Amino acid sequence: MIPIAKPLIGDAEKQAVMDVLDSGMLVQGPRTAELEKQWAAVCGTRHAVAVVNGTAALHVAMLANGIGPGDEVITTPFTFMASVNSILFVGAKPVFVDICADTFNINVDAIEAAITPRTKAILPVHLYGRPADMDPILAIAQRHNLKVIEDAAQAIGAHYKGRPIGSFGTACFSLYATKNVMSAEGGMITTNDDEIARQCRLLRQHGSERRYYHDILGYNFRLSDLHAAIGLVQLGRLPELNAQRQANAAYLNQHIHNPKIVTPTAERTPGSDAVWHQYTIRVTGLDRDAAMQQLTAVGVGTSIFYPVPAHQQRHIIERGYAQDVQLPVAEQVAREVLSLPVHPALSPDDLRTIAEAVNAL
Ligand SMILES: *Cc1c(COP(=O)(O)O)cnc(C)c1O
Repeated sequence: MIPIAKPLIGDAEKQAVMDVLDSGMLVQGPRTAELEKQWAAVCGTRHAVAVVNGTAALHVAMLANGIGPGDEVITTPFTFMASVNSILFVGAKPVFVDICADTFNINVDAIEAAITPRTKAILPVHLYGRPADMDPILAIAQRHNLKVIEDAAQAIGAHYKGRPIGSFGTACFSLYATKNVMSAEGGMITTNDDEIARQCRLLRQHGSERRYYHDILGYNFRLSDLHAAIGLVQLGRLPELNAQRQANAAYLNQHIHNPKIVTPTAERTPGSDAVWHQYTIRVTGLDRDAAMQQLTAVGVGTSIFYPVPAHQQRHIIERGYAQDVQLPVAEQVAREVLSLPVHPALSPDDLRTIAEAVNAL
């Protein structure tokens, strides 16, 4: 079976973990600091703050931006649940704006109609590693005095019009095992704002700058140096890993020709690039479950990211946040999407197998 995801773990990753174990500095050591420094360099930001996972990064980003009860945050319903849950964690209300079927990202033309006096932030998600349309988002945010919090969990190394993803406001990344750069579990927050970065550091560590003196209510969201060591090796390989994903996606786009399938459009904005965390087709001309079974039968692993949009999840409905929302594109796309393997561990044979299997559907 060609797996849908496969972490690339080499001798360097293994050695890096052993070195940390030998050093005795398992937490708050030099690897975490170095990972933050290098992550900030990739994103072109003044600060990067490492946390235990991407969900914690989003949670902390919400708090550091002062989002709380009574506030509304505009976001996409077509994302991993953590994007939306982070809004719930701080007692705020998610307001859903529909997506574009060709980019899978928030429809920027529909954002302004969703703004109310309670709106505090826009949370775009760079889904599948494809940059959201940031210029209109930044313009709307400026016009209405809103914060921008990027969910960049799937998009490390991507660019929008020449600017690194993660540099547009407060941005949140995940280093979960299947992400483009992974540390098994891990998260990162990037920002150019000194005060937001300071708040993130406080929130990560019990609200404390000076040990056992607590200024605010904080958490324990620290990343261990064992995890940071893996992330550092991976980050060093980022150009190579993302280039391989891009080459794999280009191959699949070139070789999949099936009228029952819509392949993902290539990124055409000058200076923008997608980093293909997922390569996601839409199955429009046959039953998706049947397509999935047929691909599994010939050894091609697939997955559905994500089968149920956020506004149709039970805990969102129960909170009354799905009333009167019309999100037909997200609902349609959730019924059609199917992600194929695109990770850097694929061989030329694997790619041929995948394309041929999809063409035979
Ligand atoms: C992975 C992911 C997260 C959460 O990251 P974790 O490290 O798993 O907590 C949030 N948003 C998106 C879009 C993701 O893909």
